[in-house]
Amino acid sequence: MFDYLIVGAGFAGSVLAERLASTENKKILIIDKRSHIGGNAYDYYNEDGILIHKYGPHIFHTNSKEVFNYLSKFTDWRNYQHKVLACVDGQQVPIPINLTTINSLYGLNLSSQEVEGFLASKAEDIQQVRTSEDVVLKAVGRELYEKFFKGYTKKQWDLDPAQLDASVTARVPTRTNKDDRYFTDTYQAMPLHGYTKMFEKMLDHPNIKIMTNTDYHEIIDAIPYKKMIFTGPVDEYFDYCYGKLPYRSLKFKFETLDQEQYQQTGTVNYPNDYAFTRITEFKYLTGQKHAKTSLVYEYPKAEGDPYYPIPRPENAVLYKKYQELAAQSGTYFVGRLATYKYYNMDQVVAQALSTFKKIQTEISDETLYNETSVSNEY
Ligand code: FAD
Ligand code: UDP
Repeated sequence: MFDYLIVGAGFAGSVLAERLASTENKKILIIDKRSHIGGNAYDYYNEDGILIHKYGPHIFHTNSKEVFNYLSKFTDWRNYQHKVLACVDGQQVPIPINLTTINSLYGLNLSSQEVEGFLASKAEDIQQVRTSEDVVLKAVGRELYEKFFKGYTKKQWDLDPAQLDASVTARVPTRTNKDDRYFTDTYQAMPLHGYTKMFEKMLDHPNIKIMTNTDYHEIIDAIPYKKMIFTGPVDEYFDYCYGKLPYRSLKFKFETLDQEQYQQTGTVNYPNDYAFTRITEFKYLTGQKHAKTSLVYEYPKAEGDPYYPIPRPENAVLYKKYQELAAQSGTYFVGRLATYKYYNMDQVVAQALSTFKKIQTEISDETLYNETSVSNEY
């Protein structure tokens, strides 16, 4: 008898497996329908011996000391500050838009203070920011919106930014200084030996059994367990009873070139050209030295693995109905797909750690209840 059956061996499932096994001495079965652990953060060495991310580029960043300290138990880190260029008007310029972006695009030599005035003169006066279009128009105006955001967003989501929640483009700030890092979080680092090695260490515990290549439907009636933690798509769990929740998918095209370096930064975005959104060169992320280099192109698509929940009002309404079912089900739902949230890795780890604390309280309440009932019997 397992105490917990955990469906999905990504961040959500693995953090909970580790916490419950090592601090509560619970017996865990963690399963994944894929052939490996790590979920979307899985990485491996390709046939040329270059470390690549199977499901697209994963860069770790967080402001949470708790999350960083927790993961540091399972990996050493390599400091890495991700930089992204966008290919616009035949130039490669920094995104997030910053002082350098504006000066390069417009052939100017503005100071930080002057660029504030420049952007203010372009920005639209939007009182209530509701959509992803509003966010950008309010920050930089229509011209820059069209150069950097409109086309990229249409490709990525097959939606106009006006049809997406503000939170989507709000992930990308606007700067008036020369800071050309993609993220400004306190902790920005990559697991020194890769994500998969970190997951292996996390799950290496005598109380944890791992089954890959296993869909939970195949074993649910055959394996005894007390409680389930589910980290797959929430609509799938409930047999799509209210209809399918929309997710956006991607096709990844990998390429290895017989040259040491391909591009100037880890990622180059192509908002207006090609069917792919961006190209990432893995060696920037991993720091690996190799005579060849491997790239990944991301082609957005509607069908396929559910990678992105789509943040827009009608989807929130549909998710809420599933959330109500989830709350009554006795199963714990954790992670990006199970809570239909456009979460980064650190947010999923934080969510899993807080779910663990909730479970821990339930366990100690149960223990107290059992002890009280036993003592009342005497
Ligand atoms: P997942 O990693 O998706 O794990 C869920 C697991 O459940 C999967 O392995 C799946 O196979 C399994 N599963 C589903 N259904 C079943 C079933 N029926 N039976 C058995 N198993 C099942 N975050 C960052 O912080 N930085 C980044 O740079 C970054 N880049 C990203 C790039 C891309 C292209 C994508 C798609 C995401 C990116 N993310 C990034 C987000 C990151 O991938 C997620 O936050 C994180 O991996 C979510 O972890 P999870 O455990 O919730 O889900
Ligand atoms: N975005 C854009 N142009 C860019 C970068 C981002 O329009 O050059 C928008 C786009 O809608 C994208 C969102 O901002 O989906 C969030 O970007 P992020 O890089 O955070 O996406 P992720 O890495 O999660 O795919």
